[in-house]
Amino acid sequence: MSRRVLLAAVMHEANSFARRFAPLDHFRRQGVFLGDEIPARFGPTRTEMAGFLEAARAQGWRIETPIAVPTAPEGPVARDAYAFFRDRLAEGARRAMPLDGVLLALHGSMVAEGEDDGDGGLAQAVRDAVGPDVPISLTLDPHSNVSDRLAGAVNAITAYRTHPHTDHKETGLRAAETLTAMRTMSLERNTELLPLPRPRQAGKLGKTEKRDIAAARWRRGAQGGPQPGGAGTRIGGEFRLARRHVAPELAEGRLDRMRLRQVP
Ligand SMILES: [Zn+2]
Repeated sequence: MSRRVLLAAVMHEANSFARRFAPLDHFRRQGVFLGDEIPARFGPTRTEMAGFLEAARAQGWRIETPIAVPTAPEGPVARDAYAFFRDRLAEGARRAMPLDGVLLALHGSMVAEGEDDGDGGLAQAVRDAVGPDVPISLTLDPHSNVSDRLAGAVNAITAYRTHPHTDHKETGLRAAETLTAMRTMSLERNTELLPLPRPRQAGKLGKTEKRDIAAARWRRGAQGGPQPGGAGTRIGGEFRLARRHVAPELAEGRLDRMRLRQVP
């Protein structure tokens, strides 16, 4: 029998310096998509959801699509909007059970009114709804604040590999591949954030040393993670590394190509 998979996306990058919260009306103006309208609306796009949908078609999955919200950066999410997103995800997941898997796209920097770890709260709501045994494969922007709660609620995390980010759809496809791999491999249930070593005197490092550190971190993050796709362990660490130690490469969009060369 074909697999049954939940596909959902709630993407928001919160500017926590903004004075006003973004209410549900703000998101509605930009587009809050529900249920059966999602495949037609997102199929032709280059979004993570388009990647999820393409994978679902290729695999013959039966899909449930409770919500898809793609928005531009704005102030923190107002209480009403956050409750709507969380309840829609949780209810959608609960109603869709029994599920064989979940593909979830978040941005990774959502702050909400009364909830600093917006993405962690959403992922946890999905986990609570589906229980401990349904694999959840998550996509994020690599510039994410990955809390232990977020990492612990899902089974795998993958992030964009280009900067500027142009590979949203490919990232969605990769998350789907990881989900498929998880069905056939015996993996630890949850991802885990590992402390990553930081080089001293980073300012004095040459380009080759910086590249080697990036490659070592990439490999370390990939260790024990599901293949293909990768584990969430590398997301936060990579960003810390990128921001502190290889900022010029990142700014010029070279960091990702550099990393990719290092990864078999
Ligand atoms: Zn980004």
